[in-house]
Amino acid sequence: MSKDYYKILGVEKGASEDDIKKAYRTMAHKYHPDKKGGDEAKFKEVNEAYQVLGDKQKRTQYDQFGSAGFGGAGGPSGFSGFGGGQGFQWDFSGGGAEGFADIFEDLFGGGFGGQREATGRQKKGADLKTHIEISLLESAFGETKEMNIHRMMHCDTCEGSGAEPKTETVKCHACQGKGAQEKFFKTIFGVMKQQGVCDECLGKGHIPKEKCKKCHGEGVLKKTDSFKIKIPQSIEDGETFKIPKKGNDAPHGGASGSLFVSVSIKPHKDLLRNGDDLIMNLPINFTQAVFGDKVEIETLYKSVQLKIPEGVQSGKIIKVASYGMPKRSGFGKGDMLVKVNIKTPEKLTKKQKTLLEELKKEGI
Ligand SMILES: [Zn+2]
Ligand SMILES: [Zn+2]
Repeated sequence: MSKDYYKILGVEKGASEDDIKKAYRTMAHKYHPDKKGGDEAKFKEVNEAYQVLGDKQKRTQYDQFGSAGFGGAGGPSGFSGFGGGQGFQWDFSGGGAEGFADIFEDLFGGGFGGQREATGRQKKGADLKTHIEISLLESAFGETKEMNIHRMMHCDTCEGSGAEPKTETVKCHACQGKGAQEKFFKTIFGVMKQQGVCDECLGKGHIPKEKCKKCHGEGVLKKTDSFKIKIPQSIEDGETFKIPKKGNDAPHGGASGSLFVSVSIKPHKDLLRNGDDLIMNLPINFTQAVFGDKVEIETLYKSVQLKIPEGVQSGKIIKVASYGMPKRSGFGKGDMLVKVNIKTPEKLTKKQKTLLEELKKEGI
């Protein structure tokens, strides 16, 4: 059942993210079922292809295993997959489900699929951003970190309903109890009329007679949420990852937003990261360079014995294989690259000076 998603979007296998996005826009416009000459089956196929190719991680998986792995739950099934996801999820800016939702809002002016209401009242809680600074070690081992986030959380008193507990409800005056309202959506195809959910009662047809006193009927309150997060292993400086459901909670049963955590990594005193590799400067004496030596160096994992070859030159890089950063794929590690730097002695004892002068006479 392998489908060629590249062919569906009409792009080459090596196409850039931008090209894929562009191709998707073009195809989605062309086949949109509400348009003259639209084709629902093709439209669905195009969306399925973009859900995979528009997401870095899914694209990599697809390139390796084909479309077979995307058939089941969590895979592309119509429009249900936006911004969802359970547990941990890589989501670096530029790809992923967010980008998909963005394009959709672009194309259809929001309100599509009932996720957001065009009239301004959001059913989904807002996404939040935060920033953390971690060490190179915390990145290498993907350690856990304690977070304290101020966010809108469900009101305990009314359990998010906004109604004062044990009070009656009355018929919604805005929709006369129907739960629905006519709404107008601006889309690229013009203004569209659609039956939408009532803003006042959010579709229930009734409203509480008395609003919850604690949250003033909002169903949510600003609180500090303390929780632990696992840092994605080998995350790089400047990257962002997403924690689903730790953005603002939405009142009245709406989906919670996500928390986007941007990461900066404190420079390590001895190690400099270069992709999966780690670079270390090693100062050695002139005599160590001449005769060679064995020295102990600290790596991320343990100290290892490094053999300095006889007659080594300054600037020479000695590779210690598989002592670099753990690879993103979860398999293997990069290398440790030790750069030899020969120190020139600055303060000499009388004896050292005499000996060196002897060497000078020998032409060294
Ligand atoms: Zn409340
Ligand atoms: Zn209503």
